[in-house]
Amino acid sequence: MADMAESPAAWENPACPLCGSESARRLFVARDRLLGRPGEFPVVRCSGCGLVFLKPRPTKEALGAYYPDDYYPLDQQPSPEAEAVAHDLLGSVSTVAHGRGLRQPRILDIGCGVGLFLHRAEEAGMAVQGIELSASAVNYARTNYGLDVHHGTLGDANIPLACRDIVVMWHVLEHLPDPLAGLRQVAGILAPGGVLLAAVPNFDSYEARLFGRRWYSLDAPRHLIHFTPATLTIAVEQAGLQVQTITHSSGTAGLVYSLMGDLTGVSLKLRHRPLSEPAYHRTAAILHRLTRPACLAAAHLRHGGALELQATKPPTPSM
Ligand SMILES: [Zn+2]
Repeated sequence: MADMAESPAAWENPACPLCGSESARRLFVARDRLLGRPGEFPVVRCSGCGLVFLKPRPTKEALGAYYPDDYYPLDQQPSPEAEAVAHDLLGSVSTVAHGRGLRQPRILDIGCGVGLFLHRAEEAGMAVQGIELSASAVNYARTNYGLDVHHGTLGDANIPLACRDIVVMWHVLEHLPDPLAGLRQVAGILAPGGVLLAAVPNFDSYEARLFGRRWYSLDAPRHLIHFTPATLTIAVEQAGLQVQTITHSSGTAGLVYSLMGDLTGVSLKLRHRPLSEPAYHRTAAILHRLTRPACLAAAHLRHGGALELQATKPPTPSM
């Protein structure tokens, strides 16, 4: 594979994706610690609105090389971690649906991966549909769960306007070159009073400050944007949605895999691990337990490793 760092044609130099400012200050240079692909990726903070993002960054076409076929684990049995995420998300969606008196809410999961959450939601009687860019993940979701998943993006899915009750974007916005455009599309397909549930890593977290360019959730260059509660609020409200709540996740993954990266030299959730498979999982399990109190405390102090947003589309058209 060609070295992206030596191929200027594959780079672009974006203005701030949130406010359009050309002025930004470099914070540090990140590397691909997850897959170990070549390249150096400067992380900057916008002088206008404070958004943190990659600049320069690989073009949309060049980014494909950073999403290999096995980016999503295609195991026959979902991992306990994946089950826990799907379970918690189903709880949040059920609460929203119940609160709005919806017996069979229409759910759209953008970036649904292999579809485990949608599968659980369908089992719970919800009307579900997914959108996913990874061909192998789409194939898995269709074959194993029989789900209706569009292979592509929200922009080319031809979803009618104002016809979804709940849209889920779980760790998706940080991957989008233009998250504001994505959020505006979401605002368009949500029914009046509809709800967006989204999660993103929190650049204002203690773990982000502690690890800096070694923070696991930087995930350069796949994460193009790094939100804080302030910049996430600006993005969502500019798209015409109203922020209801932003809660801080007490999840341990960001801290544990940052530590694992430091212990093993590179951040190796997926491959090239210097530890054997059982040793890796044993070490990670111990670290999950040890870091739990710190992550609970960070979330309580509103500096958790990830943000969970609930936003609504105004009941009467205001855009
Ligand atoms: Zn800006």
